[in-house]
Amino acid sequence: MQEEDFEREIKVLVVGNGGVGKTSMIKRFCKNLFTDEYKKTIGVDFLEKTQYVKSLGEDVKLMLWDTAGQEEFDSITRTYYRGAAAAVLAFSTTDRQSFEAISQWKRKVEAECGSIPMALVQNKVDLLDQAVVTKAEAEALANKTGLKFYRMCVKKGLNVGEVFEYLTELAVNRK
Ligand code: GDP
Ligand code: MG
Repeated sequence: MQEEDFEREIKVLVVGNGGVGKTSMIKRFCKNLFTDEYKKTIGVDFLEKTQYVKSLGEDVKLMLWDTAGQEEFDSITRTYYRGAAAAVLAFSTTDRQSFEAISQWKRKVEAECGSIPMALVQNKVDLLDQAVVTKAEAEALANKTGLKFYRMCVKKGLNVGEVFEYLTELAVNRK
């Protein structure tokens, strides 16, 4: 059984407009680090994390792909999407445009990857006092798109692991 020598690898995309917290999310999940500093991500990059998958009883290696400063839909290359098994669609509590862009991100992922597992994530829920998207609106979008909806705070580490665990379970059980 040569397969047993290799950890399964899964590519997971984190998409959404600039500033919603994608780089922070990946860093939080993979390294448990957070910084308030905002450095625009340059170039496409990814970090890895080993994730235990309950339903398999084994570890898989997640490759978390960050989009790269060029969050305009058309400037992301095919390489970014190629082979992805799941995607996080992220918007920010404090950025209306990022919420309105979710459907476009979903269509873009579907165009490049087919109907892979996805989750809808509202980040920065520590800033609800500055919210420009209501809970009802976000839930309505989740219903309309058929996506599981998570409210996340990368800053405090709330619901970060849960989203990736959910997507990993779906992704490994599709094959
Ligand atoms: P990206 O452009 O989507 O990669 O966004 P970044 O990860 O660079 O984050 C943009 C800014 O939002 C940075 O200043 C982060 O520190 C900040 N940020 C990320 N997540 C949170 C959060 O949960 N709460 C708050 N208050 N700020 C956050
Ligand atoms: Mg970034």
